[in-house]
Amino acid sequence: MIVMKFGGTSVQDAEAIARAAGIVKARLAQQPVVVVSALAKVTDQLLTMARAAGAGDRNTALALSRALRERHYNTAGELLGTGIFTQFHSELEDDFEALDELLRGIAAVGELTPRTTDYVAAFGEILSSKIVTAALSSHGVNVMLVDSRQCMVTDATHTRAVPAMEETQARLRAQVQPLVEAGQVVVMGGFVGATKAGVTTTIGRGGSDFSAAIVGAGLGAERIEIWSDVDGMMTTDPNLCPEARRIKVISFDEAAELAYFGAKVLHPATVLPAVQKNIPVYILNSRNPDCQGTRIAARAPHCRNVFKAIAAKKRITIIDVAAPRMLLAHGFLRAIFEAFDRHRVPVDVVSTSEVSVSLTVDSNESIPALAADLAKLADVKYEGRKAIVCLVGENLRETPGIAARVFGELSDVRIRMISQGASEINLTFVIEEDEVPQVIRRLHKVFFADLDPEVFA
Ligand code: ADP
Ligand code: ASP
Ligand code: MG
Repeated sequence: MIVMKFGGTSVQDAEAIARAAGIVKARLAQQPVVVVSALAKVTDQLLTMARAAGAGDRNTALALSRALRERHYNTAGELLGTGIFTQFHSELEDDFEALDELLRGIAAVGELTPRTTDYVAAFGEILSSKIVTAALSSHGVNVMLVDSRQCMVTDATHTRAVPAMEETQARLRAQVQPLVEAGQVVVMGGFVGATKAGVTTTIGRGGSDFSAAIVGAGLGAERIEIWSDVDGMMTTDPNLCPEARRIKVISFDEAAELAYFGAKVLHPATVLPAVQKNIPVYILNSRNPDCQGTRIAARAPHCRNVFKAIAAKKRITIIDVAAPRMLLAHGFLRAIFEAFDRHRVPVDVVSTSEVSVSLTVDSNESIPALAADLAKLADVKYEGRKAIVCLVGENLRETPGIAARVFGELSDVRIRMISQGASEINLTFVIEEDEVPQVIRRLHKVFFADLDPEVFA
């Protein structure tokens, strides 16, 4: 069997869903399990209405929900025709009634907790999976919807819940495998799960890719296909740099680094379950299904070029912790990292000197409290609007002089931090956020001009 995951743009309207259904139909012989995202932008809209309700603005929340209801009804109506839609309508109606009731409740209390946020956010995938199931059925496919909350077991860290792999995979084998073996196409919503006690959770933004990989690993899929709106993983974000080229094949390690440092086309956790079971992952374009896409595999073939791709992650804050006391003081770094741990703030890039440490974190509201805590240990400064730029390639290991070439190209750019070595396959540095587009374009021009045709399209 195979897993086919369709992202938001691939199910954004009736036309896109019909196209996705056609792609699934063409692969019936491979026994697909289909994992879907919410319709494009729906998760953002759900979170906006949840926040409005949390601020006590019930009318705005309900108006946004009405617009969402209309969009889903129109999409389903267009896909199914009036006859089938009339039967299906009441099912969606129940979900929207539940959503409105929830919003009214949140507005009445005037407080939005992470737990209720998840209840609201989950509607996107709950609705899209129902519509995609109905669409496949109307195309004559023998299809069955499985509610992800029955299979995807997570902890209770709401809005970024951690899947419990063994329990989830056991449930997938018990509930989904028999359906697949009976010749049914199973559809599931990505992103959404539930705690063991049955409380709805979500596994973090962009998490449907991760859901697909967990399903693939649990069912021992031959391949995991991530269907998106680009021809594959590109040498850089095509929105930033139109010259970006498709990478035909890339290693799990390279793809994971790129995903983590901003290549949004793949959620960074996707690679893990696939690596564990050595299942190849393909990134494909639902608008251009004949394109070969990108294959992510355990080992990439030899490549003439040093780098495979450049990624950038914006909305980064640098935290500088400086203490003369650090001289010879063992335990200082531990105390710093313990503070990050207490505030549950993950660190990306670190550089140290004898008397100071600089760290980068995603900009968010917990930084002032963290900084106040760190100020008990040392002098602390923090500054937002930074970006991490990351160049990735397996050949970095063996190629001398690369840092000189990269930074030589950027001699007029203020580089705030540099890191190379941890994974041996990336060269990472931190710059001002507004410099990202020009830095990426300049590096792309130099390092992606003459590309190995075995690896790049
Ligand atoms: P989906 O809704 O299918 O999950 P996403 O919006 O999450 O799709 O990811 C696809 C987008 O990722 C592309 O439209 C592109 O703008 C962006 N992107 C960023 N970096 C890259 C890259 N290196 N290769 C391909 N796409 C990238
Ligand atoms: N719909 C969710 C999001 O927008 C999950 C996903 O699309 O992967 O974050
Ligand atoms: Mg995505």
